[in-house]
Amino acid sequence: MGNPCIICVAITGSLPTKDNNPAVPITVAEQIESTQEAFEAGASIAHCHVRDDEGRPTSDPDRFAALKEGLEKHCPGLIVQLSTGGRSGAGQARGGMLPLAPDMASLSVGSNNFPTRVYENPPDLVDWLASEMVKYGVKPEIEAFDLSHILKAHQMWTAGQITDRPYVQFVMGVKNAMPADREVFDYYIYTVKRLFGEDAPWCAAGIGPNQNVLNDWAISSGGHARTGLEDNVRLDRERLAPSNAALVKRAAELCEKYGRPVATWQQARQILGLRPAA
Ligand SMILES: [Zn+2]
Repeated sequence: MGNPCIICVAITGSLPTKDNNPAVPITVAEQIESTQEAFEAGASIAHCHVRDDEGRPTSDPDRFAALKEGLEKHCPGLIVQLSTGGRSGAGQARGGMLPLAPDMASLSVGSNNFPTRVYENPPDLVDWLASEMVKYGVKPEIEAFDLSHILKAHQMWTAGQITDRPYVQFVMGVKNAMPADREVFDYYIYTVKRLFGEDAPWCAAGIGPNQNVLNDWAISSGGHARTGLEDNVRLDRERLAPSNAALVKRAAELCEKYGRPVATWQQARQILGLRPAA
């Protein structure tokens, strides 16, 4: 058997609505239920955003606290990763939940275009978010929307702004950012291994129909995989995904196809160098 594959489920995100797919969990109660099902299907990381009462993205630390508490109660061992992404807030509000000391948080280290706007990650904000993560013992997941973001993560590691070996996620298929390009993907892997070591774990996410493509590429190349309704709400052209768990099952089937066991939460924590459990 190959090395265990960590499946991360991005349950909600900032954009999808019930109109896009009624299975998108919006309230904290829905999020907990959807995550529990995904956890039972094999996900060991939940990447989380929260919404306000109108369903709009927010960085409200109280919402994050309620979600984190519910997940720790109903999914013991699950790795909770909170988003500091820029669609949910501006400036330092993006890191207002870091004092909750989740296992992990996402960290974007550079700017790029999104479908209709600039995804702004100015250097002073990146430095501040990273320093808060060090302060509260939160492991960052580096969201690489571009090759330069991997090199920036290396610089930050060298400078001590990131204390553990960086865990990089390649994000491909966001409109106006890096498309799902196989040669670039392979070069991302090459770069991660060159900078962080042959055995450095890495992960990949694809948006929309690229979700399954990136899952296939990552799982067959020894990486870890992200799925979930944040990135994609469909199983195929005709069918909406009935749940986050259904997307996790699809990724788990790819693991089976390529002879890789799905990582348990214990294995995932070990691979990522996290504390044994919350
Ligand atoms: Zn996200």
